[in-house]
Amino acid sequence: MLGIKSIFGSYPHRQKVLLFTEITRYFSSKGGSGKPKKVENEVHPISRITVYKCDLPLKEGSYRWSEGKSVSVFDSTVVRIDTATGITGWGEVTPLGPFYLPSYALGARSGLHELAPQLLGMNAINLSALNHFMDKALKGHNYVKSPIDMACWDILGKVCNLPLVSLLGGRHGEEVDLYRAISQLPPKEMAENVRKYKSEGYNKFQLKMGSTVPEDIARIQIVREKILTDANDVLVADANTGWLTHEALQIIHSCKHLPNVYIEEPCPSYAENQCIRRQSSYHPLILDECIDSVQQLVQCIHDRGADVINLKISKLGGLTKAKELRDLCIRFGLAMCIEDTWGGDITTAAIAHLAHSTPQKYRFSSTDFNSYNTVKTAHGSPIRDNGRMKASHEPGLGVEPILNILGDPVASFQ
Ligand SMILES: [Mg+2]
Repeated sequence: MLGIKSIFGSYPHRQKVLLFTEITRYFSSKGGSGKPKKVENEVHPISRITVYKCDLPLKEGSYRWSEGKSVSVFDSTVVRIDTATGITGWGEVTPLGPFYLPSYALGARSGLHELAPQLLGMNAINLSALNHFMDKALKGHNYVKSPIDMACWDILGKVCNLPLVSLLGGRHGEEVDLYRAISQLPPKEMAENVRKYKSEGYNKFQLKMGSTVPEDIARIQIVREKILTDANDVLVADANTGWLTHEALQIIHSCKHLPNVYIEEPCPSYAENQCIRRQSSYHPLILDECIDSVQQLVQCIHDRGADVINLKISKLGGLTKAKELRDLCIRFGLAMCIEDTWGGDITTAAIAHLAHSTPQKYRFSSTDFNSYNTVKTAHGSPIRDNGRMKASHEPGLGVEPILNILGDPVASFQ
């Protein structure tokens, strides 16, 4: 049997302290008996599902990407789930407008009207059965299911008195590296924004591409040659499906001499992106929009069709399915950007737990969405420090939503 010394022996000092804190918090909450509470057979029936709509304006005024798409105020849907046993969990979904993926804010709330009444009475902590049921009850529409799944993970964490980072696999390292998305502007203005955010501690940047070929080439060249001059600086040129294959090939060939440049989702389909991969091997390829299911990920792994994938929680249907894909990526040696389409403090907390429970080698980057918005929707969510964030040590997601910010519910099912 392992002793305490052997359990802690392989951890660095800082991690020993954090691990000991989590273990003592867990056992001290069990009435001092020293025995963990048995949750295996517990039932926490869903007794009420409440839906809120929350606007998230942007500090920069707008967020622009390929083909002229932009959003100035994100429309977030927050879901509260209460159980008959008195536990509350929170989830959130925020589509990137109606034209990024096949998802939109009103669709999220409309889908919840369809799904929520059917979930009343189900055991909130039986996440596998819950997801199986949701997939049978509503075909597709992953993003509708995501905030429900997220809220039920929050409930599971509170039942177990453990942070989600522990339930999702355990904490890896002290903090999670973040990237900063740079909204599409003329090349020199984007370069200035990269300089500004670099001074705040970021060293990974995702530049929004997809206007004209000369402008996109200028964006990459100016930022790489003038601003991101350190060896560790990373530039991701994200076309968000905005290039045709001939445009992508021109841009990639023009920048082939530049180091540490990654190309993200150049074209709309997986087949087009594989065409780009076959014809240009200068820069690593990140796939995002077209990796939208475990089936597509398995195809990509089989083809070695990407060097990094962008794993978005709501695109896949919640933390349960995101974890499934995350674990496959680890198994098959594929790095990930772990994030979501957008979100406020609740989504940022969920990202932090999933990312922080992923081995560092496979964490390409993550996003602190809560730092892009002017509105704070919950206490306890991660706060960026020098381009990095940490998952909470509190049970569940570790967030306490601010009810007067969320306002009156837009729907309630009980
Ligand atoms: Mg992307």
